[in-house]
Parts: sequence; structure tokens; C-alpha cells
Amino acid sequence: MALRPYIVGNWKMNGSRAMLAEARAIDRAAARYPAVEVGLVPPAPLINLMAEAVSDIAVGAQDCHTAPSGAFTGDVSAATLADAGASFAIVGHSERRAKAGHGEKDAVVRAKAEAALAADLAVILCVGETEAERDAGKAEAVVAAQLKASLPRTEGAAVRLAVAYEPVWAIGTGRVPAVADVAAMHGAIRAGLLAAYGEDGAGVRILYGGSVNAGNAAELLGADEVAGALVGGASLTAESFAAIISAAAMVAEEG
Ligand code: PEP
Repeated sequence: MALRPYIVGNWKMNGSRAMLAEARAIDRAAARYPAVEVGLVPPAPLINLMAEAVSDIAVGAQDCHTAPSGAFTGDVSAATLADAGASFAIVGHSERRAKAGHGEKDAVVRAKAEAALAADLAVILCVGETEAERDAGKAEAVVAAQLKASLPRTEGAAVRLAVAYEPVWAIGTGRVPAVADVAAMHGAIRAGLLAAYGEDGAGVRILYGGSVNAGNAAELLGADEVAGALVGGASLTAESFAAIISAAAMVAEEG
């Protein structure tokens, strides 16, 4: 893990003011592992409260709109998220790309990434194949196409970008790909980043996401080109998330 490990917890549509106690405990745990960068991503109404409650971790947004402002009822702009205390935004999560979710296509994901960067937010761009696509032997082709079409092309984008490889079938299921498959996909993503950004593509962290927990984190984080994790369920309590942060620190130390 040559790049600074980055462990990000996505609370999805979970959270309350009472749960800020978990965020504070995660913040204290993160302070013990300065080698690891930690981010936590609550539902939008909690961003401001969480940002004021923590000091050693970054607070992010789960999505943003493509436009800087305007008549888009229920949506939140990147500028408003930044004003609330977010320093990064996740875009293109499979739950938003899904037809049953928001049906977001690559072009919209790219526009959201560019809107986030324009508002000075860093970006975590999610890509990943479905189980049917993997079974059909198309996983790398699908992910490469998603990546190419949804990467932000803003000047200097690579410096404020991370990519999360999240096989859709591994999210929230307790199933994870073989470590060799994770390494192969991360290698393919790296090739796509170098093609898009030249040398700057080498510095983009590629995170793995999908059923990461305290028990499997070290093995997944030790795979080639895995520079961190995007964690859903196991980020909801300080106990389980701190164990993943600690695993990342251990893997980084082992070199
Ligand atoms: C996610 O939704 O980004 C995710 C990785 O979820 P989980 O860790 O719960 O599989």
C-alpha cells in the first residue's frame, strides 16, 4: 500500500443526532492511527453537526447535484454541502446508478464529479459490475467503460479524486471477491486512470468496497493497488469501523 491508506465509512440512509456519539468515538480511534486518512459520510442533514463534532476525520456527502444552485426541489448542491462542512462527495454509488434507485448514467455521474470539484470538494467515484456481468466474464470491460465515461475531466481532477471499486453483488451481502480478482480489477482501473490522466493517474487512490469488515479488511487491503476501503454496514459503529482503520494501519506499516 504505497499511497496513504484511505478508509471511508458510508452511513447511507442511517443516522441520527444520537449516532454522533459513534462519530466522536470513530474520530478518537482515527486519531490513534495518523498514517490512515479517515472519512465518514452521514446523511446530508447530519453533515454540519458531524463536522462540528469531529476533528481528526473528514466528513463527506453521499451525492450532490450537477448544478451549482437552482430549482431542484429536494436536491443538494455541492456548494451547499461544502458550506455545511463536507470536504468530499461520493458520486456514482451503485445504489444511485441502479434503475430501482436513481438510474444515474455515467454522464450524470461525471457531471456530479465535476460539480463537486468545482465546489472544492474532493471526489470518490464508484464503479462496479453486477453479478450477471461478472458471470458473463464482462466485469473488467464493464468497469473500464464505466470508469472512462464517468471520470471527471476538470483540470487537475486526479489530485482530488479517489476511485472506489465496488462489485454490486458484494455490497451488503457478506460476499467478497477473491483477493486475486480484486487485485486484477484494481490493476485494470489503474490502467484506465493512467490512460485518462497520464502520470497524475498514478496518485489516485483506488479503494475496495463491498462487505468489508474487521475480519476480512487486512487481506483485502493487502491486495495489489488497494489503497483503502469504502465501508457501509461496518462503519455504523465505532467498534467495527475502528477495527478496519487499525487493519489499514497495520497493512501500511508492513509496507
Ligand atoms: C457500500 O455500500 O458502499 C458498501 C461497501 O456497503 P457494505 O460495506 O455494507 O457492503
